[in-house]
Amino acid sequence: MEVYYQSTRQNTQKIDAKAAVLQGISSDGGLFVWPNLGQEKLDLNAVCQSDYKGIARMVFNQLLAGFSQQELDECIDNAYTHTFEVKDQDTITPLKTVDDIEVLELFHGPTSAFKDVALTILPWFLSKALAQTNKKALILTATSGDTGKAAMSGFQDVDHTGICVFYPDGKVSAVQHKQMASQEGENVRVFGVEGNFDDAQSMVKKLFLDPELKERLAQEQIVLSSANSINIGRLIPQIVYYFDAYRQLVNKGTTKVGDPVSFSVPTGNFGDVLAGYYASLMGLPVETFYVASNANNVLTDFLATGTYDRNRPFIQTISPSMDILISSNLERLLYYASGKDNAKVAGWMNNLADTGAYTLDEKTKAVIQSTFKGGYYDDQALKETIKAAYDKTGYVLDPHTAAAYALAKEAKANSKVPVIALSTASPYKFTQDVLDALGVEEEDPWKAMQILSTMQADPIPAPLAALKDAPIRHDACIQPDEMKEAVAAKALEIFR
Ligand SMILES: *Cc1c(COP(=O)(O)O)cnc(C)c1O
Repeated sequence: MEVYYQSTRQNTQKIDAKAAVLQGISSDGGLFVWPNLGQEKLDLNAVCQSDYKGIARMVFNQLLAGFSQQELDECIDNAYTHTFEVKDQDTITPLKTVDDIEVLELFHGPTSAFKDVALTILPWFLSKALAQTNKKALILTATSGDTGKAAMSGFQDVDHTGICVFYPDGKVSAVQHKQMASQEGENVRVFGVEGNFDDAQSMVKKLFLDPELKERLAQEQIVLSSANSINIGRLIPQIVYYFDAYRQLVNKGTTKVGDPVSFSVPTGNFGDVLAGYYASLMGLPVETFYVASNANNVLTDFLATGTYDRNRPFIQTISPSMDILISSNLERLLYYASGKDNAKVAGWMNNLADTGAYTLDEKTKAVIQSTFKGGYYDDQALKETIKAAYDKTGYVLDPHTAAAYALAKEAKANSKVPVIALSTASPYKFTQDVLDALGVEEEDPWKAMQILSTMQADPIPAPLAALKDAPIRHDACIQPDEMKEAVAAKALEIFR
C-alpha cells in the first residue's frame, strides 16, 4: 500500500515520510497524517512472538515506508541498543504488576523521562532524511526543563544535526539544571535565558520565522528544525510500546492473544495516548483509553462534553509536564474520528485559535466517547495516590504516573479487562515532591534521591546518580534579544 502524509486540514498535497519528518508541521498549520492508517493490521501473533526491536521494525515498516529497511534497522539499533537501563534485553519498556494494575515503565532511557523513547530515535530518522540532501539541521528547543535534556541527549553527535537548547535561567529544578549544564556532545549548545519559559519559547518561535536568519543559515546549507511532539518521527516510535506491553502481558499469561486490554495514560500534549489510538487502529485490541490529567482538566471536560475550552486559569502543579491547556496532538484524533473531514478539523482549529474553544458534532463526539474516558486529579489527590500505592506495595509512583494509576484503579474496580497504566517519569526526577507525598522532608536533591532509593529498595538510575559530580560544560546566560546571534554563531561553530 502506498504510504504518504497529508495535512489534517486539507488533502491536496501528499508527501513521503522523510519529508514529513524534515518538515515537522504542515505549512497550513495542520499536522501530518496518513489517511489509510488502519487498513492493514499488524499480525498479533507475530507481535507476541517478537521483541521490542522486532515490533519497532513491524510498525516502522508500515508507517515509515520511504525509509529503506536497512535505514530503519540502523535507526532502531542506534537508538535502542544499550541506551536504556533494563534487565531483560527484549524490551526497553518493562511491564510491572503493582497491586491489580500493570505499570508500563517508559522511563529507563538516558534522561529518565518517557520522552527518551522517541527522542533517542527521532535524530536518526532526521539524519537519514538529511543524508539524501546536502543539508544540515539545527534543532532549536525552548524547554521548561525535561524536553531539552532528552532532546540534547538524543541528538548528541548524530551526523548532519546540531542542537541549541534554551531554558529559563534559575527557573528549572537543581537536577534539571545539572542535567542540561553537564550535557556532552560536540554538536550541543545550552543557554540559560533571562526571564521565564514563555520568553524563551516566544523568541524560539520568532527565530523559526526570521527571514534574515533563515537566509544566513541557508548560505551554509543549514535549516532550522524542531523536535517537538507533533513530528511524526516522535509520534510513531510511541506506537511500539503499546504493542510491546500487550506482548509482555500475553507472555506473562495474563492475557490471551486477541483479548482486549485498556490503557491509562498521563496526558499533556496528547501525543502519548494518540500513539495508543494509532496502535488500536493497527489491530491492537483496546477496550478503553483512560486519559489522565492533573488540575488542568481541559481534556476531562472535553471528553465528557464534546466542548474543548481552554479559557480557564493555567495551574502550576507537581506534574509539570501535564500543565498544558492546548493539547496539539488531539487534532489528529479529530481527523480520524470525524471520518477524515479536513474542513471540519480546520473549522474547529480556527475556532480554537480565534475563541479558545470549539464544540464537536454529535457523531464525532460519539466516536471519541466510545473509546476515550477522562479523569483528573489535583496535587492533593496525586500525593494521596503516591502514598497509598507505596503503603500497599512498596512501589513509588512519580506525580505524572500517579494520575494514570489513580484513574486505572477507578477503572479496574468496574472492569475485568487488564488495565495498563503508563509510567512516564522516574520518581527520582521529582524526588522532593514524591518524598513530600510520603511524609519525608529533604531540601538537598541529592540526599533526597538517596533517601528514596533506600525507601523503595531500588538503585538511583545511573545517569542521575552520576550527575552530582558531573562537570559543568555550559554556563552561558543570555538575554532573549541575544538568542538570534547566539544561534547564528553556534550554527557556524557546530557545522564548521
Ligand atoms: C511529556 C510528558 C507527559 C505528557 O505526554 P503527552 O504526549 O504530551 O501527552 C506526561 N508525563 C511526563 C513525565 C512527560 O514528560
